[in-house]
Amino acid sequence: MPEAGILRVAVPAPLRRLFDYLPPEGQQITRFQPGCRIRVPFGRRVLTGFVLETAQRSEIEPAQLKPALAPVDSTPLFSPAMLALLRWSADYYHHPIGEVLAGAVPARLRRGAALYGKTECWSAVAGPESLSARARRQRELLAFIIARQRVTRPEAAAAGFSPDLLRQLAGKGLLRKENRPEQPAPAFAPCHCAGADRPKLNPEQAEAVARFKAAGEGFHCALLNGVTGSGKTEVYMRLMEEELAAGRQCLVLVPEIGLTPQTIERFRQRFGLPLAVFHSGLGDSERLAAWRHAGEGSAAILIGTRSAVFAPMARPGLIVVDEEHDASFKQQEGFRYSARDLAVMRARKENIGIVLGSATPSLESFHNAAAGRFLSLELRSRAGGSAPARLLPLDIANQHLPGGLSELAMRKISQHLEAGNQVLVFINRRGYAPVLHCPLCGWMAQCEDCSALLTVHAEPACQRCHHCDSRRNIPARCPVCRQDDLATAGLGTQQIERFLRREFPATPVLRIDRDSTKGRGGFKALLSNVAKGEAAVLIGTQMLAKGHHFPGITLAVIVDADGGLFSPDFRGQEQMAQLITQVAGRAGRDSDRPGEVLVQTRHAEHDTLRSIIELSYSEFASHMLAERRAAAMPPFAHLCLVRAESKDRAAALGLLRRARGEIEAECRRRRVRLTGPLPAPMEKRQSRYRMHLLLRGENRAGLHAIIAFLTRHLEALAPPRNLRCHIDVDPIDLL
Ligand code: ADP
Ligand code: ZN
Ligand code: ZN
Repeated sequence: MPEAGILRVAVPAPLRRLFDYLPPEGQQITRFQPGCRIRVPFGRRVLTGFVLETAQRSEIEPAQLKPALAPVDSTPLFSPAMLALLRWSADYYHHPIGEVLAGAVPARLRRGAALYGKTECWSAVAGPESLSARARRQRELLAFIIARQRVTRPEAAAAGFSPDLLRQLAGKGLLRKENRPEQPAPAFAPCHCAGADRPKLNPEQAEAVARFKAAGEGFHCALLNGVTGSGKTEVYMRLMEEELAAGRQCLVLVPEIGLTPQTIERFRQRFGLPLAVFHSGLGDSERLAAWRHAGEGSAAILIGTRSAVFAPMARPGLIVVDEEHDASFKQQEGFRYSARDLAVMRARKENIGIVLGSATPSLESFHNAAAGRFLSLELRSRAGGSAPARLLPLDIANQHLPGGLSELAMRKISQHLEAGNQVLVFINRRGYAPVLHCPLCGWMAQCEDCSALLTVHAEPACQRCHHCDSRRNIPARCPVCRQDDLATAGLGTQQIERFLRREFPATPVLRIDRDSTKGRGGFKALLSNVAKGEAAVLIGTQMLAKGHHFPGITLAVIVDADGGLFSPDFRGQEQMAQLITQVAGRAGRDSDRPGEVLVQTRHAEHDTLRSIIELSYSEFASHMLAERRAAAMPPFAHLCLVRAESKDRAAALGLLRRARGEIEAECRRRRVRLTGPLPAPMEKRQSRYRMHLLLRGENRAGLHAIIAFLTRHLEALAPPRNLRCHIDVDPIDLL
């Protein structure tokens, strides 16, 4: 029998290997290129997988090999660079390759739909004279179709004609329906018209642009460390300009809360080129359309959150990661990748430049810049010439503050409002109060399914768990001692809103958190209120703290700076410094109104807090780096967290104990430190107990060898369905 050859297929299943198939009956092995989808029998199901390799023969008994069913694509869905990236990331994150590939494409493609299918369109078989004059809209639609020769339903809808109207015309026999194959749109027209009214770069910006360009063609990664308001976006746009003029595409990754209509508008206005926008709120067909525009090259700028790192590019030119330190770049479930880190690897595989920008870079990126792996670009002053805001610590230890704000803070707020300015009051906790308790017996309201207290909400009045979103009525009396005088403790945005409304009845008080911005356009409406610039108090969580440019804000008050000081997470202080710096960065962005920042704390003498207030973020970061080095923590060591979750506490713990037993000797040999298994700091979540086993190694290769061994062991063990176990490489959430 002649050698038929073997297809090696990545199948969307939780197994870290490829599966061998014979080519479909009667088909040549040579027509299958890596990256093409194929339908294969898998157990009792039929799945859509990706051909990754072809081989002469399989290690499986020939009699056991099954033929694949049918190819889906005739050309690969992924470029060679993307395929290399995805295979690299499946290895690096120890995640099953089939799931990595499936997760990287839009849901429609995952389910096997054609990249370009057939589309229904209508043409006219008679003129408008065949309709009565009263059927005005029908006549208009018919005229529209005649003018366009043929239209699709979305085209008619875009011109304001409903699907009903189309149906009515078709019902009268005036239209002919055809199925025509969809065509890729042509590449965008390169533009040399980057806006004559763009600002002249200041010397620091000009130097950053020049140094990036001097690094030449091919892969290079720069960290753009620029204080808030220093004009980082302007630097990105100058670097993009050149790529776009040469007809190359730019991929811009932004954090979840950074992808506002303002952000998109800024790029659209500057370049006037087609954009493809990617975010989690897209419907299936919108996502497929964006993917096509990116992959065919008709979109010039691809902009999106985390998953946009997988968007195809026909002609890649540049990648930008804005606010590179933001935690939303790390996927927290399933395939736990860092979009920032993958973006750097992607730039390497595509052999193009990449800029990571932030006012508060992650310690990882600082370290890479210091070690010379990244080009280090700095913007130390604000672009418009405004002075950086002054930070003032306010000791509130032993003070009872009804609305959470000290006397001085209240006085300052009045002054700034009287001067016609806006004030930002920052508290990173939504709801009314984080605690409901009984002052007599000490009972506290807890979630039944999570190791967490229930947050009291005022509108509508109820208790909510912020971890599983369960809701309950507020009890009338204490469930333990039955007395009926329960109290709240601590503050949330709603309570401060209520307090400030009472204190400043004549001033608009806007609360901006996840609850107040729910629903379509909620955030947009609130933001446009702020943009009017009238005197107002804005109360916000971190949604408001990052990235926005509100020139009217001259005062920021941080209600409680102590949250991160005693965090069980080793990144707590880094995150706190980033948040305080970002909040401070909202104040005084307008050059003739300097900003002030009040930092309320009960630990004014705490070293970390004092360094955050007294030093620049960059100086603070170098202190933190020295501490991390001394403690052999990231970025000087690499972490991998193995989590087990189960309703059965002992089962989760038992699995990790056995896992530890399997790798203990090897860890000693390769100098990988093991911690645990231990209950997670938040032991129970959504009724599941969570156990952690943490691996820490100074040598990445040794650590990865052990994880590879461990994942094979866990796969072979095949824990029961109610016992989940997963691997988180470079975890950022240890809670
Ligand atoms: P960042 O992203 O660093 O926080 P932005 O890019 O949003 O800062 O810039 C802050 C403000 O400064 C924006 O209003 C921007 O238009 C303005 N700006 C940026 N660069 C310049 C420049 N060279 N000259 C004048 N204004 C500038
Ligand atoms: Zn009680
Ligand atoms: Zn809960």
